[in-house]
Amino acid sequence: MTKGNCVERFADLQLLRYEVPGFALLPLRQKLLVYYLAEAALLGRDILWDQNCCYGLRLRQTLEAIYTNYDGPQEDADWQAFVVYLKRVWFSNGIHHHYSCQKFEPGFSRDFFLAEISKLDESLLPLKEKETASHLAEELAEVIFNPEVMPKRVNQTDGEDLLLTSSCNYYADGITQAEAEAFYAEQKKKVNPQKPPMLGMNSRLERSADGSLYENVWRSGGLYGKAIDRICDMLCKARNYAENEKQQAVIDKLVEFYRTGDLKAFDEYAIHWVGETDGEVDFTNGFTEVYGDPLGLKASWEGYVNIIDHEATRRAKALSDNAQWFENHSPVDARFKKKECKGVSAKVISAAVLGGDLYPSSAIGINLPNSNWIRAEYGSKSVTIANLTRAYNEAARGSGMREEFVIDDDTRQLLDRYGDVCDDLHTDLHECLGHGSGQLLHGVDADALRAYGSTIEEARADLFGLYYIADQKLVELGLLPNAEVYKSQYYSYLMNGLLTQMVRIEEGNQIEEAHMRNRALIGRWTLANYPEAVQIVEEHGKHYVRINDYPMLRKAFGELLAEVQRIKSEGDFDAARQLVEQYGIKLDAKLHHEIRERYQRLNLAPYKGFINSIYNLVRDAAGNITDVSVSYDEAYDKQMLRYSQQYRTL
Ligand code: ZN
Repeated sequence: MTKGNCVERFADLQLLRYEVPGFALLPLRQKLLVYYLAEAALLGRDILWDQNCCYGLRLRQTLEAIYTNYDGPQEDADWQAFVVYLKRVWFSNGIHHHYSCQKFEPGFSRDFFLAEISKLDESLLPLKEKETASHLAEELAEVIFNPEVMPKRVNQTDGEDLLLTSSCNYYADGITQAEAEAFYAEQKKKVNPQKPPMLGMNSRLERSADGSLYENVWRSGGLYGKAIDRICDMLCKARNYAENEKQQAVIDKLVEFYRTGDLKAFDEYAIHWVGETDGEVDFTNGFTEVYGDPLGLKASWEGYVNIIDHEATRRAKALSDNAQWFENHSPVDARFKKKECKGVSAKVISAAVLGGDLYPSSAIGINLPNSNWIRAEYGSKSVTIANLTRAYNEAARGSGMREEFVIDDDTRQLLDRYGDVCDDLHTDLHECLGHGSGQLLHGVDADALRAYGSTIEEARADLFGLYYIADQKLVELGLLPNAEVYKSQYYSYLMNGLLTQMVRIEEGNQIEEAHMRNRALIGRWTLANYPEAVQIVEEHGKHYVRINDYPMLRKAFGELLAEVQRIKSEGDFDAARQLVEQYGIKLDAKLHHEIRERYQRLNLAPYKGFINSIYNLVRDAAGNITDVSVSYDEAYDKQMLRYSQQYRTL
């Protein structure tokens, strides 16, 4: 059963739709730019499948052939388990869980698998020369069913040989961790230490006949060359519609890198890309993140295209333009305030398409490039992807969380009406103003709070947001519709910090992550010091947050903000430790158990992914392109099968 924008739910996964609000309003030129960049972002899919597992592409073709040709009974248990398995494999771009990296356990039998393959026409199977269907079936069955074969895609266990125990396809069979590390240590000696290239990021490490190691580089004419050439074709088409010369230069350098595999060209591309900030459309396309390699060198392929979200970016700008006003009026001691305050304006975007390692499971904020010296010298681009966040929020609305954990109907209605507006605005206040506000007293070490530093810093930014979200100024700036809206944020923030965030922690454990510690700290400090304003109450054996006095709560947040800023400005380690230890870490075991149990009864999927929108060229009778249409109605399996046909490159 699905609700709202949730398209499908299986195993521990949920597939959501996201809309691309800005697209329809773009002029045709920019639509075409998005269209061709989106094509380029989808054409790298097979690269990722091969990077994740050397059997990935052959397995996918075989599983899809079974899926599309099955004519047995739908209610057959093996068939149903097979369908779930294939959907999980699609989601992970391979046979290992996208998050835990463990190999999936198939719920169907080996016999079912072998029998279904034997019914297929051989032309549908990825047979190598002289290979028989039954030979292929046996080989793939070992990979799927034998738990000893490729148990983990990325193994990070300290003390084990990380390459021999990881099944990702970045290193040829038999290459040990020590060999690979020695190989790259040697390479490292040959490069400029001030401006080191991202060594190893675009190649598979292999062994030649004489036993020595070499890099098989991913480039035109090299490994993945067929995919790369098609990506380059689309990038060149996109270049015709670039918004400015800088964007053209970005594409030119990227194509040069793809054609040559030269890491210097990659750095030049990254520098051009960081410098291009005028366009409304932006993209990344290529070998990017290194989480899939246990040694953290080899970059998995990903691509996405984005369009600036003018409304949200305007909101962020309204805040940063008024940064000094907020600084001057904050409740902290004058000595701890910045005399000259500059807000940070983060760019808010809508994703237009997700590809490779960002599909279907995606990040909602991205900060690139990864090269440290380029970041230091040229900066980085940081984006928050608003339409994906919205899709998450919409999915959460139908989840039953509010019905279960919000105390009464009035409060629930408040959250339903204003929850999203407030969440976005609180995030903006936190990011654009909170972190940048305040100053250290002269001579105070920025690391004085040591292990408590990040919790205190997140608390400072959150409190700044909580204090100001109740300020008339936000209504004046047109960012909130009225002066009551903030109540929704106060309730949902405290409900999360005091109760619902616990669902993400295993029973018996304490709070460890800094953002979670900060939310617990703020909630429980307020509970202890302002019991007239907020309480936890029990009704029919269930605990709820009850807020009795919202204006008093604002006063409490202001008071705690002043104290947290003092701690930071003075580098008061003891006070930081006291605050975090007393309020931010320990969990009440009984309450924790209750909250987890109520949550589990809702049966929600912990991992979510997205179905892409579909772009099509619209032509008139003479064949001229007159528009690019966008639609959102494709089913999950249809999209995956279409991608396997349309964007098959390897
Ligand atoms: Zn933060």
